[in-house]
Amino acid sequence: MKVMHLKDIWKIYQMGKIEVNALRGVSLEVNDGDFAIIIGPSGSGKSTLLHILGCLDRPTKGNVFVEDKEVSKMTDSQLAKIRNQKIGFVFQKFNLLGSMSALENVELPMIYAGKHLKERKKKAKELLELVGLGDRLNHKPNELSGGQQQRVAIARALANDPSFLLADEPTGNLDSKSGEEILEIFHTLHKMGKTLVIVTHDPEMVYEGNKTIKLFDGQIEKAEVRDFGNIKR
Ligand code: ADP
Ligand code: ADP
Repeated sequence: MKVMHLKDIWKIYQMGKIEVNALRGVSLEVNDGDFAIIIGPSGSGKSTLLHILGCLDRPTKGNVFVEDKEVSKMTDSQLAKIRNQKIGFVFQKFNLLGSMSALENVELPMIYAGKHLKERKKKAKELLELVGLGDRLNHKPNELSGGQQQRVAIARALANDPSFLLADEPTGNLDSKSGEEILEIFHTLHKMGKTLVIVTHDPEMVYEGNKTIKLFDGQIEKAEVRDFGNIKR
């Protein structure tokens, strides 16, 4: 089933008198259960594409469908609701709140969703256990390694049980061992039924997905789809 659909997406940034064409007519389908990888050189439009897919940003032109709802025409608050309920987003730089513990960071999206305290604490603890941080619940981000911070960020992204997990260079700031641990977590989540879309520079990660989209200069240069049966794990 097609669950995310970008149709002829253009993104033009206006920089004073200069226009930057970050995306030029990109169309893309993400199906239920995909493990999709977006690659391409720096400046080719990967982050812009992921932000549009994740409803963090809007296209200048074109249509964005999430589970058959057209989101590109929605108001900011409708968009925020879709984002909070359906999409988890992981950033290269973790974006955790430094004054809060791991547990509190994971609780945050559930506060916005109106979940009760007891339910929040329970779920946040379960998610931190899932990413292997059951013994670090009360640590602040600066008391955790980069890899551990990214695992907190993944737990936070999963707080409201999103169908989609989007990640922008999730291993870009990590050493290779921590990067491999993050990749293992993505595999576990994929097996649990999450649909993944990951922007990466890591050539190893390309072999893990069933779909590779290569951007160049704001356009799709190459798209490849493989059968999961042909992927060695
Ligand atoms: P990538 O993730 O592949 O490095 P980006 O999506 O970040 O590419 O950027 C694509 C192009 O759009 C680049 O030329 C970048 O400088 C430009 N760009 C991205 N975000 C903005 C912005 N907020 N304002 C102006 N230009 C931007
Ligand atoms: P990353 O490579 O970690 O994704 P980037 O440097 O591409 O980070 O972008 C970081 C932020 O800055 C993004 O939100 C992006 O939209 C914005 N950005 C990227 N390029 C430009 C630019 N040329 N002008 C203004 N903002 C930009």
